[in-house]
Amino acid sequence: MGIKVKAIVIGASDYKEKDKRITLFTLEKGKMCATLRSVKAPKAKLKFAKELFCFGDFFIDTPSMIVTGVDVENNMFELTKDIDKYYIACAILEVVNTIALENEQNAPLFVETLKALGKIAYDDVNEKYVLIKYLLSVFSSMGYSLALSNCSVCGERLSGKRYLNLDFGEIVCPACKTYNSIEVSARAGSAMKLLDSTDYDKLSTLKLSKGSEDEVLNILNINFDRRFNKKLKLL
Ligand SMILES: [Zn+2]
Repeated sequence: MGIKVKAIVIGASDYKEKDKRITLFTLEKGKMCATLRSVKAPKAKLKFAKELFCFGDFFIDTPSMIVTGVDVENNMFELTKDIDKYYIACAILEVVNTIALENEQNAPLFVETLKALGKIAYDDVNEKYVLIKYLLSVFSSMGYSLALSNCSVCGERLSGKRYLNLDFGEIVCPACKTYNSIEVSARAGSAMKLLDSTDYDKLSTLKLSKGSEDEVLNILNINFDRRFNKKLKLL
């Protein structure tokens, strides 16, 4: 017996002498582990399938979970040619690895992940903008909207600086700020709103004020750590 899944490789580690264990994020069943047999040899038929970002149809024997074949749609090879792009793309895989669950389909996350990685690989776009948009979308899908115009507690319109309440992952105005909050500058607040409302296809036309993307990423990374107990590795 076997299954066929549409998947992207989000992790790989050595297993036994010649094998690799890969973690797949599949469209059909969420996260899944599988084994690639004897793929360390340079001529191994499935050696490309142990590489991060490899995307395609995976044919897997059950219950052994040994990969028997892969129809590659895209190996995202471009991501490995630029160290900045590579790091940001790896951060996206870390996000998926952290929030995707085994045997739980998450089609919106699958589609968004592929779109974000494709943009980083093939568009002339600031890869940090893509990661910010992706993280905002991930938070929003879990009920933590950060790209807001109004305070999430009192509803007052936000202008100037605002705060991220780290206990609840909510954006609040200065009056509603509590002890465990970090400042979000006016610049970072508007950068988040702009990136959130701009389609992935249009991100290459955006130009934020210098440094604001790093400020936003730092805030989002702190929030990710608080929500999921995992700090993303960023350059
Ligand atoms: Zn308020």
